Amino acid sequence: MNIAEKPSATLAQHEPGAPTQEGFIPLSIPEINGNEWQYVKECLDTGWVSSVGSYVDRFEKMMCEYVNTSHMVATTSGTAALHTAMLVANIQPNEEVLVSTLSFISPANAIRYVGAYPVFMDSDSTFWQMDVKKVERFLTQECHQEKNGLFNKKTGRRIAAIVPVHILGNAVDMDPLIELAKMYDLKIIEDAAEGLGVKYKNRHVGEMGDIGCFSFNGNKIITTGGGGMVGTRNPHIASKAKYITTQAKDDPIEFIHGEIGYNYRLTNVQAAIGVAQLELLESYIQTKRAIAKRYEEGLNSIPGITVMKEAPHTRCTFWMYTILIDEKQFGISSRELLRILGNKKIQARPLWQPLHLSKAHADYEAYECHNAEKLNRQGLSLPCSISLSLKDQERVINEIRGCSL
Ligand SMILES: *Cc1c(COP(=O)(O)O)cnc(C)c1O
Repeated sequence: MNIAEKPSATLAQHEPGAPTQEGFIPLSIPEINGNEWQYVKECLDTGWVSSVGSYVDRFEKMMCEYVNTSHMVATTSGTAALHTAMLVANIQPNEEVLVSTLSFISPANAIRYVGAYPVFMDSDSTFWQMDVKKVERFLTQECHQEKNGLFNKKTGRRIAAIVPVHILGNAVDMDPLIELAKMYDLKIIEDAAEGLGVKYKNRHVGEMGDIGCFSFNGNKIITTGGGGMVGTRNPHIASKAKYITTQAKDDPIEFIHGEIGYNYRLTNVQAAIGVAQLELLESYIQTKRAIAKRYEEGLNSIPGITVMKEAPHTRCTFWMYTILIDEKQFGISSRELLRILGNKKIQARPLWQPLHLSKAHADYEAYECHNAEKLNRQGLSLPCSISLSLKDQERVINEIRGCSL
C-alpha cells in the first residue's frame, strides 16, 4: 500500500509531536493541520460537494496568485492535467514530444494518450533534471528543419513539444530550454507535479512554459487526496482546457457537446482541502528545507554518499529528499540499503525506472540516457514528511551511517 493513501485514522498518529506508529518512519505522508476540516465541513453543510462550488474557483485563483500566472483549470489528477495539456497544445498523432526519461511515468503516458510519441531525454548528472545540453544536441544534430517544422531524421516525425519534468523539488534549467523552444518553434509543457513552490530565477516552476501541470496526489508537497491543475497565461488555452475537462458541453441547459470531452473536474470537497493546504505551503517548504539541511549535515561526509543539491538559480523545495549511493565506496548498493532500512521500519524508495527502459515505452527513442540509468541504480529517497521529528531523522541518519564501510 502506498503510505500516502493510508486512511486518516492512521495519519492522526503521525501528527507533529505524536509518537510514530511502533517506531515506523514513513517516506512522506500528507500534513493535515490547517483549515481542512473547517472548509470541508462548509462544503458538507452547504451541500456543495461536487464539481461546482466556490472552493474550486478559490483554489484556481489562489494557485494563479501563488505561481504568478493568469489561468488555472483544476483537474482530477496530475495525469489528467498532462493529458489535457497535450490536447489543448494540439499535439497530433505521430508527432514527437521530448520528455525526461527519469520521471514518474505520467508525462510519457499522456504523450501516448494523444497518439504522439515520446523521445526520451537524459538527466544531468549533478542535479538530475532533464539535460538541456543533450536536448540541444538532439535538436541540432538529430533533427532537420523543413518549412513546416523540425523533423526527427531517424523517424521522419515532426517534433512538436518539450516536456521538462522538474523532479524531486529542483528545477530544470529553463532559460536555455525556452531559447531552444523559440528557435525551433516548439511548445513547452512543464510537468511541475513535483515542483509546486520551486522557483527558478525567481519565477515559479510551471509558469515558464506555454502550459504547466501540477498534481495534488497524496504524496505531493500539498494534497487534495487526488487532483491536479493546468496553468497557462494564454486565455484561449485556458478556456479550451476548462471546456474539454467538463465534457465539452456547449449549452448550460441542453445536453449539446461540441466534441469529445472528458470528466476531469476536481470536486469542491477536494478543492476545499487544496485551499487549506495551499495556505500553509510556504511553511511546508521551510520545513522540507530544514529537513534537507539536517540530512546534508548528517550524511555528506560519509564516503560513497552524494546528497541532493539545490540547483543553480533555484529555490529547491526538497519535496522528496534523495541521496545517491556509490556501492563500491559505501559498501552496499542502494537496494541493499533500502532493504536494511525497511527491516528497521524506515521507509525509503528507489528512483523511477528510466521510462525508456519501461515495458510501457520500450519501443520509443531514447537519446543517450546513461546518466538516468546510473541515477536509477544509485538513487534512494529518504523519509521527509513535514511531520518528521528530529529524533526520527537522527535515527535514519544513524542507521545509514551504521551501514557504511
Ligand atoms: C505525481 C506525478 C504526476 C502525476 O500526478 P497524479 O496526480 O498522480 O496523476 C506526473 N508527473 C510527475 C513527475 C509526478 O511526480
